[in-house]
Amino acid sequence: MTYMPEFSIPDTEGYYQGFGGMYLPDELKNVMREIADAYEKIKDTPEFQNELNYYFKNYVGRETPLYFAERLTKELGGAKIYLKREDLCHTGAHKLNNVMGQILLARYMGKKRIIAETGAGQHGVATATGAALFGMKCRIYMGEEDTKRQELNVFRMKMLGAEVVAVKKGQRTLTDAVDAALEDIVQNYKDTFYLVGSAVGPHPYPMIVHDFQSVIGKEARRQILEQEHRLPDYAIACVGGGSNAIGLFSGFLNDKDVRLIGVEAAGKGLDTPEHCATMTKGKPGVLHGARTYLLQDENGNPSLTHSISAGLDYPGVGAEHSMLKDTGRAIYETATDQETVDACLKLCRVEGIIPALESSHALAYAMKFAPTLDKDKVIIVNLSGRGDKDVHIIQQYVSL
Ligand SMILES: *Cc1c(COP(=O)(O)O)cnc(C)c1O
Repeated sequence: MTYMPEFSIPDTEGYYQGFGGMYLPDELKNVMREIADAYEKIKDTPEFQNELNYYFKNYVGRETPLYFAERLTKELGGAKIYLKREDLCHTGAHKLNNVMGQILLARYMGKKRIIAETGAGQHGVATATGAALFGMKCRIYMGEEDTKRQELNVFRMKMLGAEVVAVKKGQRTLTDAVDAALEDIVQNYKDTFYLVGSAVGPHPYPMIVHDFQSVIGKEARRQILEQEHRLPDYAIACVGGGSNAIGLFSGFLNDKDVRLIGVEAAGKGLDTPEHCATMTKGKPGVLHGARTYLLQDENGNPSLTHSISAGLDYPGVGAEHSMLKDTGRAIYETATDQETVDACLKLCRVEGIIPALESSHALAYAMKFAPTLDKDKVIIVNLSGRGDKDVHIIQQYVSL
């Protein structure tokens, strides 16, 4: 294992061993530096930590349980499976952990307006939620195609008081929404904060998202020590941009006997173009201000991707994950759409929990893996979100 703990803190330019950085024009670099400086100043103060913990507890609903999936374990006949129940967070996923942290940071910086971009709409809903809570103006950029595919989430954001802007450039999807958000922040950085939804993008976002999601791993580590009196053998999480995975992994990065496994979407299969297995099939390149693994065509343009779960449908991945892959500290596996739906239904039937399709990728891999392990092994799977939002997609996939 070549990993050393200090590697998970980027250098002052935001590099994790060559990944990350700030590939941006100077005016945007200045915006990022202002955020990085403000964050450095407040992050370890008791005021900020107490405020964040207050909202984690009383608004998000933390801590979330670490639940022993006893029936699932018995049925699979191998390692013990524990589920970290991020699906029980307010708004139904881990995303609000990060939103709370960044909104408090924005308030500290004196910003009055929040912008974000969203593909599937889940981050838009979480951001609109946080903005409503603190009475801040909120604008969400979304590709026009995505606003059509995710009508209900658009309406949710509007119910929460956000303005939703349908971006009519390019492919009219997430990448174009990111460009629109960057244009906005260049114009309006004086009173506006750009709230990024995953552990991606330029420095300092991968670092601050890691920190705000690390509550998942901290809790899980304490909870497994309470319940099993030992650390897990494996920690498994799905990887889109990588925020729920880095949140869980961060609790165990220094425990070198805990193996970390990220699970990406193999979509319709790794030998088809319709997947988003960035680490498995991608190469390093620059996307949205950072150097990371990236699915790209021959000309270096980001590939069109596919996954049954909109939340994993992104051609890039966070800088820290890219580093964890290259150092061998984490490994990255995949699950197909079909395996994911099967895993989702199995958890419904055996445990009475409807998991998000994103999280079902991690479950699918765990369900394949657990039976190959001895009964004294322990696996923690991050159940990043609940599946109510996905019922209509599953309905198209299976008839019951
Ligand atoms: C958005 C989302 C993801 C993917 O994002 P990460 O940053 O990779 O965690 C995973 N699970 C759920 C439930 C989501 O909503």
